Amino acid sequence: MVICYIPLKEGLAVKHSAHGLLAKARKLSSQVTALVVHCGIQEEDIRLDCDEMVMIRLSEREWPVSSCHIQAISSFQRELSKEGPFLFTSSPLTNEITVGLAARSGSTIINQAMDITMDNDRLIVKRELYGGKACTYEYASCSNYISIDPAFLNYYKTSSKRPVSIRHLDLNVPKNDSIQFIKNKQLSWKEIGLTEASCVIGIGRGVYQTPALDQIEILAEVLNAPIGGSKVADELQLIPRERRIGSSGITIAEADIYIAIGISGSSQHLEGIKNVKHVLAINNDAAAPIFKRCDIGIISRYENVLPQLIAALKNGDGVKNIEDIGYTAAGV
Ligand SMILES: Cc1cc2nc3c(=O)[nH]c(=O)nc-3n(C[C@H](O)[C@H](O)[C@H](O)COP(=O)(O)OP(=O)(O)OC[C@H]3O[C@@H](n4cnc5c(N)ncnc54)[C@H](O)[C@@H]3O)c2cc1C
Repeated sequence: MVICYIPLKEGLAVKHSAHGLLAKARKLSSQVTALVVHCGIQEEDIRLDCDEMVMIRLSEREWPVSSCHIQAISSFQRELSKEGPFLFTSSPLTNEITVGLAARSGSTIINQAMDITMDNDRLIVKRELYGGKACTYEYASCSNYISIDPAFLNYYKTSSKRPVSIRHLDLNVPKNDSIQFIKNKQLSWKEIGLTEASCVIGIGRGVYQTPALDQIEILAEVLNAPIGGSKVADELQLIPRERRIGSSGITIAEADIYIAIGISGSSQHLEGIKNVKHVLAINNDAAAPIFKRCDIGIISRYENVLPQLIAALKNGDGVKNIEDIGYTAAGV
């Protein structure tokens, strides 16, 4: 049996990465259990490809506190005593959860895995080394907590299946009052990690030594979007090393929108945005390869575009039509 942890906040759709996690589990075992920790979602709304779905509800106040998720998982383990590797999708929350679980149980964790396979009844976990230039294979056991990088889980389609069996569990453990949720703080664009943001701005050589860099920061502020960039942007010290996007940097798998400014769109850069849903590219060269990857392309110097884009966004209506900001969408 393999158990997959699926955190599902009310009103949010099941992410592709959650379906990907279940698909990975399917390849490992014919028995897959999904532990859905949720915040009030109706079970009829959930479509997951698993044999059994166990649901535990947390309150809105408990949701952001990792120790409440740990309590939910501990409840599940105690009540149902199921054996099997526990799979998670890597995120800041699940990384905290796996560390907490491992500390309590003395088990080992393997975080940010690329893949997990079975070979002669042994679980083998593949992990990246040196930003993807090499990888390592580690044996795992049934008691391991393993989290898989969402960048390697996003190719799976939404399931239309209803789980075969559904049960609800109460969170019947004494509440841990030493840790309490105080308030929600919206992180600013400077604090949000590129891999957690839903909108990311990427800058490249095209913005180097231009007078409109402040406009990029204003756009980041308006959209609350963190700024990353190309390898060249990193080498020109426009962004810190850990904000490089691409094959030798990070992958921004969770972003819905990527705004590429002054980036040509090399294959190495595109590798880091391959799972992004929508790309808006601003580049003054109509032949730049980024225009082949984008949904909306604006062929112009970025300095001419950003003031109007920012004004349109500040207006509150957003940009409904790219013609509104005076530039023709590239025919891509
Ligand atoms: C082993 C290896 C690993 C690599 N890993 C990565 C990686 O992880 N990530 C990565 O990004 N690259 C990586 N690269 C480098 C990659 O090949 C490219 O060199 C790099 O992505 C180019 O960066 P860029 O788009 O910022 O610059 P350029 O390719 O120089 O593009 C700049 C663009 O800005 C446009 N421009 C200029 N002025 C303006 C303006 N005023 N307004 C709007 N547009 C303007 C230009 O038309 C041009 O298209 C790697 C290379 C190798 C060999």
